[in-house]
Amino acid sequence: MTDAGTWSAPGRVNLIGDHTDYNGGFALPCALPRRTTVLARRRDDGLLRARSAGATEPLEVRLPGVRGEVDGWGAYVAGVAWALAEAGVSVPGADLEITSDVPLGAGLSSSHSLECAVALALTGLADLEVPVPELARIVQRAENDYVGAPTGLLDQTASLASVADHLTFIDARAETALPVPCDLAAAGLELLVIDTRAAHALTDGAYGSRRDACERAATRLGVGTLRELTDDLDVDGALARLDDLADDPEAVRRARHVITENARVLEVVDLVRTGRLRDVGPVLTASHASMRDDFENSVPEVDLAVETATAAGALGARMTGGGFGGSVVALVDTALVAAVEARVRAAYADAGFAEPGFLTVVPARGAGRDA
Ligand code: ADP
Ligand code: MG
Repeated sequence: MTDAGTWSAPGRVNLIGDHTDYNGGFALPCALPRRTTVLARRRDDGLLRARSAGATEPLEVRLPGVRGEVDGWGAYVAGVAWALAEAGVSVPGADLEITSDVPLGAGLSSSHSLECAVALALTGLADLEVPVPELARIVQRAENDYVGAPTGLLDQTASLASVADHLTFIDARAETALPVPCDLAAAGLELLVIDTRAAHALTDGAYGSRRDACERAATRLGVGTLRELTDDLDVDGALARLDDLADDPEAVRRARHVITENARVLEVVDLVRTGRLRDVGPVLTASHASMRDDFENSVPEVDLAVETATAAGALGARMTGGGFGGSVVALVDTALVAAVEARVRAAYADAGFAEPGFLTVVPARGAGRDA
């Protein structure tokens, strides 16, 4: 048993591949240089106590806890402890001091950085090393069944498995996360993250209804997940199968996004691996169009940021994360970053939108023990 230590986990930005994870597909995120840090001390009385600089109310529960006994921010912490117990992973009580510089509710996965840091702290106090795929499923259970957000495996896998200066190529069905070297600086490029400040709430019905439409499409097409459509068929062949769903145009649009998005992720992985980073831009913009038109999870603030950034010279831009607001990621020449920021700021002021936030990102290290 370990008495005390410090663990941290980053937020993530997903370069491409959204709403593919729960369809068994591909994604290509990286860790943000923004993290949640948990200073943890073991307690022997079975109580889990937590305080966060980002929340007024402290959390106190008796382990293993009961699903749903806590709501608000504490659900992310108590949910992880509960999900660990449900998975048969026994962890001690603890005092947790939490700090974070991940923007909250900005689509950059502050929630998963919190959950992953807590999961590592609690298992670390018990001297347990849970393999990443298993820990990712436990964190998913906390978020799905305790917090009530029907998210997939992308965010926590990115937080747990990412490596500095690499993108993380996730295959959700195979549960693999492969680091792909990505030296943006050598290519004179940066990832510019634009926090649109448009509220996104993944616990309301919109995310779940998208998920349901994907499952409906898969069931009617006789596959376990939409990913399977491209196992035997090329993209055009898979899209042709959607003719069988003509009486359900919503399911067709959602499935079309997933099928084409998986192909775009593979295309970007190939471009990055072969050093053609500038060619990634148009694929990002195509992904955005697919989310806006087929997945219908964009909002006006997001579309304005994408359109303005690309008009100001970004090589490409797209909404990142679950959608319905949140952040945009743009691939930008370093020399143009200031100009892109200024144009987006001005466009938001003209439209009467709240002032956006900006963050330039070099892929950072994943979660781990710090001290
Ligand atoms: P995102 O994950 O994109 O930031 P979510 O809505 O999924 O957005 O998660 C944001 C919520 O996670 C916050 O409202 C809060 O309840 C919780 N949270 C995340 N980080 C912290 C933190 N450091 N302290 C307290 N609560 C946090
Ligand atoms: Mg979240």
